[in-house]
Amino acid sequence: MDQFDLFIIGAGSGGVRAARMAASYGAKVAIAEDRYMGGTCVNVGCVPKKLYSYAAHYRYDFIDSKGFGWNSDIPEFDWNQLRDNKIIEISRLNGIYDDLLENSGVTVFKGKATIKDKHTVLVNESEISTKHLLIATGGWPFVPEFPGCELAVTSNEIFDLPVFPKRILIVGGGYIAVEFAGIFAGLGSETTLSYRGEIPLKNFDKDVRNTLFLESQHHMTMLMSSNVSSISQIEDGLEVTFKEGNSLVVDTVLYATGRKAKTEGLGLENLDVKTRANGSIEVNEYFETAEPGVFALGDVIGRVALTPVAIAEGMVLASNLFNDTKQVLEYSLIPTAVFSHPNIGTVGLTEAEAREKYADIEIFESDFRHLKHTLSGNNERTYMKILVDKDSRIVLGTHMLGTDAGEIIQGFAVAMQCGLTKEQLDSTIGIHPTAAEEFVTMRQERA
Ligand code: NDP
Repeated sequence: MDQFDLFIIGAGSGGVRAARMAASYGAKVAIAEDRYMGGTCVNVGCVPKKLYSYAAHYRYDFIDSKGFGWNSDIPEFDWNQLRDNKIIEISRLNGIYDDLLENSGVTVFKGKATIKDKHTVLVNESEISTKHLLIATGGWPFVPEFPGCELAVTSNEIFDLPVFPKRILIVGGGYIAVEFAGIFAGLGSETTLSYRGEIPLKNFDKDVRNTLFLESQHHMTMLMSSNVSSISQIEDGLEVTFKEGNSLVVDTVLYATGRKAKTEGLGLENLDVKTRANGSIEVNEYFETAEPGVFALGDVIGRVALTPVAIAEGMVLASNLFNDTKQVLEYSLIPTAVFSHPNIGTVGLTEAEAREKYADIEIFESDFRHLKHTLSGNNERTYMKILVDKDSRIVLGTHMLGTDAGEIIQGFAVAMQCGLTKEQLDSTIGIHPTAAEEFVTMRQERA
């Protein structure tokens, strides 16, 4: 029987990083994966999503280019070509993940791992023994039960649709719904977004959400306070009826109504691990479950379902286990982007959170038309907002909606990590002419 120091179930972002780091500290490590190397992010998440988002942006670039003298029509979009190129690229990345693990000395098991007890895992009928066990199995799309729900697809299937949907309904108001709505609208689908709340992205800053809501209306139909009651197959496509009494016929319905921890069939019942009502695994600050020697991290713990966070968690755990440290991950200043059209980039508190936590805050904002659009004729707005604690002068939140918001906000996340103050922003020299320079030139507090 093989004996490992660490056996990891799930070769996604968190599992792979934990494996490689643990191996680099000299541990004997194994990892099991039954689906695809790299997990959700590489296969049906961040990476293909960003590629499709680039594809969608070309539409607006073609349109915008006319004002700059490029007199051509929008070329025809070929879904099959995008999808097949994506498949090639993702399989290249799968291979890179295999190589990275192999070169790190990690033993890879391709197959479903089942936990027999905290020191024993079964994979492909072999019994493997381990000192420590890490559960990094990620999440899985959640679709509520209703008549016809089986006709909907999720983010697991959407990238590989055999036929491009000329009409698409996207249900949800989180990251995935908003991103795919922008993607399919850009690729040329007649796109409808149905959200049960008033305005999508409920945990984001309200001014950013409002601006995205207004911008989105130029590209798609936004059905708000809208609830699907059924989907049925008809000759012309899928007929969707809503509780509000309206109906719609589309080619594809994408459900993006959240994700749940993926623990089914793992054998958790053989451990003393505690799970929450939504299935996610409870861990303490050191990623220890209630069962000694069994750890969990990434989407399966239901904290922050973001690839860079899972990676950071993997590094902390590996170091604590095999490098004699006792680190705790700091979750307070996690930057994030929504690859909506236009993009959102954000770090720190929203205005509502800042008002709740601080006695007095200052708000600086800027809403403008990008220099590029003076010639393109595009009316798209760029919005930026800075929240400052009046007392300490520390910047509490930086938010942006506009081209490359994610790229721009990353730098501000570094500065905020270093305790950025408003005065330091003000004394920073801008790069002209850029949109980002607005962040260092906002002097007038919002009334
Ligand atoms: P989210 O949790 O972000 O959003 C789920 C949405 O579905 C919410 O708007 C929610 O409504 C709605 N919803 C939930 N249940 C129902 C229901 N029964 N009926 C109708 N609507 C429902 O999940 P996503 O699936 O969009 O994304 C999962 C996670 O993946 C994200 O939270 C994020 O952490 C990560 N992700 C990150 C990306 C990035 O970094 N760019 C991109 C994509 C995903 P309500 O608002 O009312 O709760």
